[in-house]
Amino acid sequence: MRKRVFSGARPTGRQHLGNYLGALQNYVKLQDEYDCIYCIVDIHALTTVEDVSNIQNNIYEMTLDWLAAGIDPKRSITFVQSHVPEVMELHTLLSMVTPLSWLLRVPTFKEKAKLQPHNVNYGLVGYPVLMTADIVLYKAEAIPVGEDQLPHLELAREIVRRFNSLFGPTFPEPEAKLTSFPMVLGLDGKQKMSKSLDNHIEIALSPEETVKRVRTAVTDPARQYRTDPGNPGICNIHFLHGYFNQTEQQRYAMMCRKAEVGCVEHKNVLADEINKALAPFHERRAALATNPQYVKDVLADGAQRAQVVARETLVEVKKKMGLL
Ligand code: ADP
Repeated sequence: MRKRVFSGARPTGRQHLGNYLGALQNYVKLQDEYDCIYCIVDIHALTTVEDVSNIQNNIYEMTLDWLAAGIDPKRSITFVQSHVPEVMELHTLLSMVTPLSWLLRVPTFKEKAKLQPHNVNYGLVGYPVLMTADIVLYKAEAIPVGEDQLPHLELAREIVRRFNSLFGPTFPEPEAKLTSFPMVLGLDGKQKMSKSLDNHIEIALSPEETVKRVRTAVTDPARQYRTDPGNPGICNIHFLHGYFNQTEQQRYAMMCRKAEVGCVEHKNVLADEINKALAPFHERRAALATNPQYVKDVLADGAQRAQVVARETLVEVKKKMGLL
């Protein structure tokens, strides 16, 4: 049997270049070597989302992005987390072997608690336990994620080790699979690209919208005039260019240092490269969008296939924990 891959993302809407370069490209590639399970983790979304009216539409838009990017639903199970409720049962069982102190020290919990002091809910603390349940329910071994997820994954490994030592070998220790771009910076050039920071470029934007969005990027702040030489080493346009065309990235870096190219021109070149690279994705996405029923069917079929594995694991866990 091939090893299993699992990964999930919250239904926050259309995917951006950070998701695409940091995770989604790996989702697609790993299908050749692994049995892959990709999950839209809607329950996780409830830890931070207070306006739930968009969740269903976000699930749809994200599924379109995933399928258009190359996730093949015949080979890979693609489903929505809450459609396989066994994960909530496993979450409760794993919570019994997870010391609270481990959860309270997770950096993202502290950050989120600061960001939403009015809503430091129980689910926010338990987020990594639910994430562990997502992974181990399918006994997944390889987890394609961006760098930001590494602390969560380390905790998942600790929970697995604890469970296995208490109840006997049950789950493999999941390992992260990073892409060569595990941390894509946003248009501000300082923080990770993220929808919530509004520094992102959605991959489903039209070519014209992409040009407009790229033009808002911050470049070398010391370069005020076209005649000033620039410093590509601190310019995110330079880094983003490298994701799409390394030869041109180097050529433009040289020209920038000699003030032979302006920032606006460089941004236009980058936007063109992005649009060129994403053209086949846009074509597939437009075709898929003509058939919303197909997207629904993919998710329904995925949930059914995932549930077969989930039920098996849950029986094994309950037996080991003395519940059966
Ligand atoms: P979640 O909140 O479930 O992590 P996200 O939409 O934030 O969902 O992320 C989905 C995937 O994309 C995760 O694997 C995450 O690590 C990755 N990712 C998100 N932002 C970036 C980024 N700026 N650079 C690299 N990878 C990223």
